[in-house]
Amino acid sequence: MLAVLRNPGAMQRLSFNQSRQRYFLSLRFKQYVYDKGLEELRNEARFMVNKNIKNKPENDGNQTPINHPICIAMHATATCCRKCLFKWHRIPGYLELSEKQVEYLVSLIMGWIRKNC
Ligand SMILES: [Zn+2]
Repeated sequence: MLAVLRNPGAMQRLSFNQSRQRYFLSLRFKQYVYDKGLEELRNEARFMVNKNIKNKPENDGNQTPINHPICIAMHATATCCRKCLFKWHRIPGYLELSEKQVEYLVSLIMGWIRKNC
């Protein structure tokens, strides 16, 4: 996976991180994923990353709620805010994300969803 090439060990470190492990998909969210399908969900993930993560927002750190399976996946993969992006993926907060970086985050989010559904 692209993630492994870019930042070896990031996902492994994340999976050992206690605060990240508390995230899981409820039955209701799993049903949502099933009903939507992975293709549509990938579009939603891309939409959310472009809207809230691509550029650092004023409320960075609070832009991602926990009321949607994509949001849960974003917290679990540390793609929820620019602070976490820097801490775990070494992407500086002052840069606008490139198309490639957006797709990298989307692949992390979708990878987590596939694994946790
Ligand atoms: Zn965060």
